[in-house]
Amino acid sequence: MAISVITFDLDNTLWDVGPVIVKAERAQQQWLLQYRPNAVAGFDQEALLEFKKSVWRRHPELFHHISQMRTQMLYELQIVAGYSEEEARVGAQQAFDVFFVERHKVEFYPEALGILELLAQNYTLGALTNGNADIYKTDAAEYFDFAFSAEDMGASKPDPAMFQAAIKQTGVAAEHIIHVGDDPDHDIRGARDIGMHTVWVNTQRRAWPGEGDSADCEIVTLHQLPDAIDHIVDAH
Ligand SMILES: [Mg+2]
Repeated sequence: MAISVITFDLDNTLWDVGPVIVKAERAQQQWLLQYRPNAVAGFDQEALLEFKKSVWRRHPELFHHISQMRTQMLYELQIVAGYSEEEARVGAQQAFDVFFVERHKVEFYPEALGILELLAQNYTLGALTNGNADIYKTDAAEYFDFAFSAEDMGASKPDPAMFQAAIKQTGVAAEHIIHVGDDPDHDIRGARDIGMHTVWVNTQRRAWPGEGDSADCEIVTLHQLPDAIDHIVDAH
């Protein structure tokens, strides 16, 4: 069985997403404090979370468009605080931009860039993310041949849309593609349902929580990925 394409989930597969979101949220908050202080004053953390939830409920059409959802939340936050529509529109964009720059200052797992560089010599590499990270804004840009996000597709994994996009983009059948990801449902079930091989990145060493079988291979660090790929090739 020849493998020619490897697709990667991003958040919690190539880096921990938690710390970078905390930093990005903090930068966004600093911007609001400086330029739209009234939008911050009326909300403690709990109230802000409730406000966010109410925006999510009222905008189901933005469910797969998390950047737009965040911008909408920032806009409404300013409107509620009494800023004009124009101030709120401009402010939402600027606060989002500050968030977005920080959101891409990801800290790759220590071995990730070396492994990507190695694999890029022999495989076509693609990024498939439900989040709003753009791999081309990171230090791994040069290793990736294509990238699709839930925002591009209007659908999130495990929906087949992103996996189908990878197949169409490369002209390679699912059986010659390996998808690598941390989420048992979004990544492993989603990719398997369309016929791809799968590698579960299980950095937390959890028991397999998904329905049905685990992935073709399970790894706890990306160091193990080249061997996992060889294993899949040999087993088929
Ligand atoms: Mg992930």
